[in-house]
Amino acid sequence: MLFETHAHLNAPEFDEDREEVIARARENGVSTIVNIGFNAETIPTCLQLAEKHDFIYAVVGWHPQDAKDMTDEHLEWLEELSRHPKVLGLGEMGLDYYWDTSPKDVQAEVFRKQIRLARKVNLPIIIHNRDAHQDVITILREEKAAEVGGIMHCFSGSWETAKMALDMNFYISFGGPLTFKNAKQPKEVAAKVPLDRLLIETDCPYLTPHPFRGKRNESGYVRYVCEEMANIHGMTYEEMAKQTAENARRLFRLD
Ligand SMILES: [Zn+2]
Ligand SMILES: [Zn+2]
Repeated sequence: MLFETHAHLNAPEFDEDREEVIARARENGVSTIVNIGFNAETIPTCLQLAEKHDFIYAVVGWHPQDAKDMTDEHLEWLEELSRHPKVLGLGEMGLDYYWDTSPKDVQAEVFRKQIRLARKVNLPIIIHNRDAHQDVITILREEKAAEVGGIMHCFSGSWETAKMALDMNFYISFGGPLTFKNAKQPKEVAAKVPLDRLLIETDCPYLTPHPFRGKRNESGYVRYVCEEMANIHGMTYEEMAKQTAENARRLFRLD
């Protein structure tokens, strides 16, 4: 029933017990997982995982932290992969001003090129945004990202930013931080997002929800995000699981 929209199950953190983690996700009610490959190393392993399991899909793109490494050949590779039957979207792409491992202008250029590619191949895009809210919105607008829409993943911005993204056909996805006791802003923003635009994710192995905060995250823990989201919207767990899964299937055109 649960649709986990953002995982990194190909990460080395899962090398010891990957299949057990995937089995536990199934036991916790996860019906579908979208796994993200975001650079030259992680894209091939991301695709392998999607080819091995029919309920795991892939999204491929270039992370802003790796922006300085993306070549024109890589962009052509992404275009080729966009035709792969298990590839549902492009990303994660965007801007990361926290780690700042690639210069801002390079991040912006790589972000713009990927939006243009997404419009060319007509696939939704997954946006990574850390401390760069205004610039992300500006680029999405200038590059007409509304044509393809997509996901603001692990959203941490204000309602104003969320509203601007919603107006450009984006869905707003929340992860583990939504469950933290002191997460006032994410809870307030999540409460205002229209029900038909809400998504849930883990971003595992990172951003582990309460009550496992501090430990390695895994896809099965998306149930804690769903529980919190159900509380915030005054719905049952089952209703929220169904709603967010329907939203994800609509966005990724899985029906
Ligand atoms: Zn991210
Ligand atoms: Zn991610």
